[in-house]
Amino acid sequence: MGYSVNARQFDEWLAALRNDFDVYAPVCVKGGSIYSDADCIRYGMISSIEEVVFDRKSEYSFKEAMVPISETLFYFTEEECTVPAPKKKGAVIFLRSCDLAAVQRLDDMYLGNGPEDFYYERIRKNIRFVLMGCSKSFGSCFCVSMGTNKSKNYDMCVNVRENGFEIDVKDASWNSFFLEKGCTQTAVAADYVQENTVKVTIPENLSTEIYKSSIWDEYNKRCIACGRCNFVCPTCTCFTMQDLFYTENGKVGERRRVWASCMVDGYTDVAGGGSYRKKNGERMRFKVMHKIFDYKQRNGYHMCVGCGRCDDICPEYISFSDIIGKLEKGMEEVSGS
Ligand code: SF4
Ligand code: SF4
Repeated sequence: MGYSVNARQFDEWLAALRNDFDVYAPVCVKGGSIYSDADCIRYGMISSIEEVVFDRKSEYSFKEAMVPISETLFYFTEEECTVPAPKKKGAVIFLRSCDLAAVQRLDDMYLGNGPEDFYYERIRKNIRFVLMGCSKSFGSCFCVSMGTNKSKNYDMCVNVRENGFEIDVKDASWNSFFLEKGCTQTAVAADYVQENTVKVTIPENLSTEIYKSSIWDEYNKRCIACGRCNFVCPTCTCFTMQDLFYTENGKVGERRRVWASCMVDGYTDVAGGGSYRKKNGERMRFKVMHKIFDYKQRNGYHMCVGCGRCDDICPEYISFSDIIGKLEKGMEEVSGS
């Protein structure tokens, strides 16, 4: 059901919601940028709709509200292991259409790729999503090419209008709230981007033979293996384990899982001193092919949702969409045509 609401009505709804949910949305963190004296848009808890940044893309994705950057899996002593209690409240997350598509990818990885992940599942089942309508594309987005520019799988969508907001509400209990408040009913469809400046085409003949191509070589020098592209990506799911010992004998402490990056040193280190992808160009090839080739073979759609955050954050101005644009030539090179 659709409604026109003003900021006060929206905030009343948020206040009622916060009894049971923490509400996360992109907010402006003053001075929070990696550059001095610049702000950063990233996810934080909100209590008012005025705090939500609608007119800029968040540099970091919603992912940290669902999969903590560092999460304690259990505490241990010599006698026992204890799993931390689950969060008391659920979460409502404001996000755009590409990011809602990314949730599907996280679900694939954590719930459908072998046994369900206990920690993800207990957070995920208490999450609701508010889709932020996109009236225009940001510079580096290529969501239309990736087919993620439209979403219907939300609990509420919100479009920003001159004098307030238009919302479409699917959650029955939320609907009752707006009906009881006497909000004006109206037909609402989520705003969505119809065209991006950046367009990509993934070659139909793309195959693993691309590993022989020279297109990866430039990244041996250009990429500095900082891993930022992975940490901002809403679909990267890798983590590593860290044990934290409280006592010198190493028998009391906690085990955490912490976000990891396939672009940084050490990611492919194995016992015996081996390492599978030492060159940064090899790591780039692995990341690109995972995002736009092998994931689709298994799940029927690409892992990359075209949010463009990896382009925005790279200190070396390496563009993921530019790399996709080089694949056709790369395939010509390896097939000798
Ligand atoms: S690979 Fe880049 S463009 Fe694709 S989903 Fe990840 S951050 Fe977004
Ligand atoms: S952000 Fe850029 S420099 Fe850093 S690892 Fe990714 S591609 Fe390499």
